[in-house]
Amino acid sequence: MTARVIGVLALQGDVPEHLRALEAAGARAVPVRRPEELHQLDGLVIPGGESTTLWRLSVAFDMLEPLRKLIASGLPAFGSCAGMIMLADRLADGVAGQLTYGGIDMTVRRNAFGRQVDSFESDITLSGLDGSDAMPLRAVFIRAPWVEQTGENVTVLGTEQRTGRIVAVRQGQLLATAFHPELTPDRRIHELFVDIVKDNT
Ligand code: GLN
Repeated sequence: MTARVIGVLALQGDVPEHLRALEAAGARAVPVRRPEELHQLDGLVIPGGESTTLWRLSVAFDMLEPLRKLIASGLPAFGSCAGMIMLADRLADGVAGQLTYGGIDMTVRRNAFGRQVDSFESDITLSGLDGSDAMPLRAVFIRAPWVEQTGENVTVLGTEQRTGRIVAVRQGQLLATAFHPELTPDRRIHELFVDIVKDNT
C-alpha cells in the first residue's frame, strides 16, 4: 500500500520537525503553503508558532477559507500548540478579530500556562494510545494553550499532570495537542495521526 500524503502547513513554525516526525511514522510528508497544493493531501499538520501570525498569514496567502472548508468537509488534521488554537471552534483569549480554521468543538485559552512560566517540560498522562497507560509522554510546552471546555463529541486524550489541564484532544479525524510532540523523540502522537489518516482513506 502506498504511503499517505500528509501536508505540513508551512506558513510558520516547526515545519521541518513535523516533516521528519511524519516520515518516521510512515507517511509521505510535504510542506504546503498555497491553496492549489491542498488538493492532493490525505491529511494536514498545523505546526506551532503563533496563532495570530498563522491567522494573518492564512489570510495573506488565501488559505483561511480553503482550509476551513477542507477541515469542515472531513480532511484529517493535527494541530500542535498554535495549531491546536487554529483547530478550536472558540478562543478564550484571542486578540480582537482573531479567526481560526475551527473543527474541534472546544474552547482554547491562548498562553494559558504562560502566565506562570513561558516554557516547561512535563509528563502527560495519555489515554486512547497504544501502551499509553504504561508510559507517560514527556511533553514540551512553549507559551502553550490549554483546553478550557469541550463539546460532547470531543475525547480527552491527555492531561498535564501538575495542573490537571486538558492538553490533548481528538474529535473524529481531528487531533490537537497543546504541546510540541515534534520536538521530542516519542512518536506516538504522530503515529496516532498517521493511523487516523489511514483509517480515513
Ligand atoms: N502562544 C502561541 C499562540 O498564541 C502559541 C505558542 C506555540 O505555538 N508555541 O499562538
